[in-house]
Amino acid sequence: MGRITSQLIQVKHRIELAEETYQRGPESVALIAVSKTFPAHAIEEAMHAGQTAFGENYVQEAIQKIQVLEKLRPWLEWHFIGPIQSNKTSEIAEHFDWVQSVDRLKVAQRLSLQRAGNGRLGPLQVLVQVNISGEASKGGVVPDEALALCDAIAPLPNLTLRGLMAIPEPVSPFELQRSACASLRTCYEAILKVRSNHPGYYSFDTLSIGMSDDLEAAIAEGSTMVRVGSAIFGQRAKIAE
Ligand SMILES: *Cc1c(COP(=O)(O)O)cnc(C)c1O
Repeated sequence: MGRITSQLIQVKHRIELAEETYQRGPESVALIAVSKTFPAHAIEEAMHAGQTAFGENYVQEAIQKIQVLEKLRPWLEWHFIGPIQSNKTSEIAEHFDWVQSVDRLKVAQRLSLQRAGNGRLGPLQVLVQVNISGEASKGGVVPDEALALCDAIAPLPNLTLRGLMAIPEPVSPFELQRSACASLRTCYEAILKVRSNHPGYYSFDTLSIGMSDDLEAAIAEGSTMVRVGSAIFGQRAKIAE
């Protein structure tokens, strides 16, 4: 068994165990394998081990791999999870199934416009990225502005707003990891409460939080989608970060 295959199996075990421990339903947490900096053959190995959803941060690098794996495209789900420059939105709209890092209206408007007529992929699934650590350098809208941004994005054609995403500060103590994840959950639940299940309003089903080092804390706090890179593919070269 290859190294990626065995590490993927271990990550799936961690997810299943956390689902059990925190009384989450079986298969309530989706796994996105973050393949940034790793070559197409690494993705193929993960795919042969049953993984179909992959996350990428850099547009050019991602498109190159998507094209190498074009034959497998119908079975793969590509998630864009990196910072978005406005001049890259058309390539993102053309190639990806999901965009998890939408943090301003202008980017959402461009993605919607540029997704128009993409009958092959259908509507682009989007998440609003929330900055829960309060660092100015980090992407994401501040929690107080998340509802307004979601209200503005929800009516855009060619996009389906699915929920929220966050990248917490890396910290080791489990309780600190949990409290960071809890702040995204609080924001998510507040929006769900005022906007779900009313006619004409939008409905959320996705809370994307949790990475290699904090996926258990994220699942404890209601994550429905974890994005795991190094625990599956190995350590990334520092230069590419
Ligand atoms: C790189 C990255 C991940 C994966 O991080 P690991 O610690 O390698 O699991 C998840 N989400 C985002 C947004 C990333 O950029």
